[in-house]
Amino acid sequence: MPTANPRHPNFPIPGGPELRAKGWRQEALLRLLENVLSVGENPDELIVYAALGKAARNWASHKAIVETLLKMDEDQTLIIQSGKPIGLLKTHAKAPLVIMANCNIVGQWAKAEVFYELEKKGLICWGGLTAGAWQYIGSQGVIQGTYEIFMRIAENRFGGSLAGRFVLTAGLGGMGGAQPLAGRMAGAAILCVDIDAERAQKRKEIGYLEEIAPDLDTALAMINTAVAEKRATSIGLVGNAAEIYPEIARRGIVPDIVTDQTSAHDLVYGYVPKGMSLDEVKRLRVEGPGQLMAASRASIVDHVRAMLAFQAAGSEVFDNGNLIRTHAKAGGVENAFDIKIFTEAYLRPLFARAIGPFRWMALSGDPSDIAKIDDKLLEMFPDNKIVTNWIALARQHVPFEGLPARIAWLGHGERTALARAVNAMVADGTLKGPVAFSRDHLDAGAMAHPNIMTERMKDGSDAIADWPLLDAMLLCSSMADLVVVHSGGGGYAGYMTSAGVTIVADGTSGGDERLDHALTNDTALGVMRYADAGYDESFDEIEKKGIGHIQVG
Ligand code: NAD
Repeated sequence: MPTANPRHPNFPIPGGPELRAKGWRQEALLRLLENVLSVGENPDELIVYAALGKAARNWASHKAIVETLLKMDEDQTLIIQSGKPIGLLKTHAKAPLVIMANCNIVGQWAKAEVFYELEKKGLICWGGLTAGAWQYIGSQGVIQGTYEIFMRIAENRFGGSLAGRFVLTAGLGGMGGAQPLAGRMAGAAILCVDIDAERAQKRKEIGYLEEIAPDLDTALAMINTAVAEKRATSIGLVGNAAEIYPEIARRGIVPDIVTDQTSAHDLVYGYVPKGMSLDEVKRLRVEGPGQLMAASRASIVDHVRAMLAFQAAGSEVFDNGNLIRTHAKAGGVENAFDIKIFTEAYLRPLFARAIGPFRWMALSGDPSDIAKIDDKLLEMFPDNKIVTNWIALARQHVPFEGLPARIAWLGHGERTALARAVNAMVADGTLKGPVAFSRDHLDAGAMAHPNIMTERMKDGSDAIADWPLLDAMLLCSSMADLVVVHSGGGGYAGYMTSAGVTIVADGTSGGDERLDHALTNDTALGVMRYADAGYDESFDEIEKKGIGHIQVG
């Protein structure tokens, strides 16, 4: 039985033991599609997150996808092109049920303007990575990544703790909404600016944000008190970051950490220029996209100049993966890239071992399934400090949105072992239903994104997109249930390519085989990608875990 969804009543949260499709693999993918809409930012327009990231091209495509998932057999494969189903073909029961290619535009044409034109004609849609691939699990999807970044900074600069530290950030949308909770879990006093009061309110309602301050003075006073008391807190402030950041800098206040997660990547459908109301922005999206792009870029220039001023004054400043530096540089901020990217600065040693954002969703809809998997994880990896620390915190702090889900940064072999153990728990009835395994596209072998994931790779291979393409082909050969290749849309057009995967633990021996092959090979490719780029951690992992890497020369 689906459960009611008070925020979006037309998009109930799936769950229960009843099958509507012909098997659990198909049913699982259908529930995941329903789930991304139930937790999405604007499901009426199929928008899940990242400004324009959609679950399907349009409602007609959505209807056809649902009908196909309901009627298809296990030995068929549904083909989806940028959110539109184009065919159902006979393959075999070990082939993926769904393959997708989303938003891939040929090199010289891969530009925001071309994307918007194709989008307007209804020929393409931006899948926002996990939106179009039906893998989004709400703000929880990036929360551990954000938490790990904060903890790396705590270790590097602040004696291991963010207690008594002031973090300034912006963006309380689908992904950025994880920041206040991650900051609080890391012990900091975090101030999050968002121009849209509704987004701030949503994060408060779902338990990610504690309070919303009425104005900047009150917000800073609340932060000061929490810092003095070394008390963790999260404060929201409705305002434009391009005005608030410079104003805080003007007052001579130097936060300990500064970042930003507004949807700066998209100058038309994402970022809101200063001095403009949300209604005015909506109108210009239709009537004056060129004017809007120029205004957004001009505001981003001020926004990033303030970030650079904080950096010069001693703040730890980093780009949180939204192309804000790229647009600032295009707007004339020559030294925008003095701000470092979070991947290279804090997480690369983990990615070099293919440790990254693995996640699972309880298709029963029952939170007790996640609790049992938490227990299993702790039992299996008692010495893995990242995992044990995270699960204890997540249990205490992270509320579920939509289908109960969990994220944990696991690496090669660990993901496979956990997923197979869970498959056995489905088989013996310990769990109330099957479990879907997936991961963020921002994963070791899965993403080429020269201004985010692969910036400043050791061997200069930043822009080579062979890796995600190989990953997707390997995942198809390794029996995954859903495989997708995404490239960037909107402001990300031309900036990235990634691969995504979903595999269903349905309690069968076939499920066990699929999980074993797909998860093992996905992470093996991740380790090999970083070994190829010359990272020592990867060679260590290859030797320790016996990964079939071929060393040339
Ligand atoms: P979203 O569209 O759901 O939310 C963006 C938020 O930014 C909105 O709430 C909007 O009101 C706010 N905003 C826009 N302009 C603003 C301004 N000038 N001042 C204050 N607030 C402003 O997007 P999202 O899903 O939260 O993603 C945010 C960004 O993070 C995107 O660029 C996305 O691609 C990127 N991202 C990074 C990672 C990562 O791994 N670091 C992961 C996912 C997404």
